[in-house]
Amino acid sequence: MADCIFCKIISKEQSCDIVHESQELMAFKDINPKAPVHILIVPKKHIATVNDLADADKELIGDMVLEAKNIAKDQGIDAGYKLMFNVGRVGGQIIDHMHLHIMGGWQ
Ligand code: 5GP
Ligand code: ZN
Repeated sequence: MADCIFCKIISKEQSCDIVHESQELMAFKDINPKAPVHILIVPKKHIATVNDLADADKELIGDMVLEAKNIAKDQGIDAGYKLMFNVGRVGGQIIDHMHLHIMGGWQ
């Protein structure tokens, strides 16, 4: 998607602080963190929202959660953290490229 900011991050047209990258996913630090550790995991494939997921995306979603678990451990926040998908404007989603928020590091 040409005008999608997260697609630009994935294609490296726009810089960001990358935490982890695989064939399917990218994880990077949120530019405006709402927690001491705030990382976003995005699929490299453009999917606008959770509402746009298909049955065929089952493995991708599983991979996102497993990646979140691994990142939480790497970041030293695995004692406790929040995982969140905002869905649609009413649900607080601003960027229309599905992303999983990992937030933690309060203690
Ligand atoms: P949403 O409200 O859509 O669930 O969350 C979007 C998140 O993306 C926000 O927390 C916001 O700070 C973050 N964000 C927006 N633009 C950029 C950007 O260009 N780079 C990075 N790293 N994060 C961004
Ligand atoms: Zn996108």
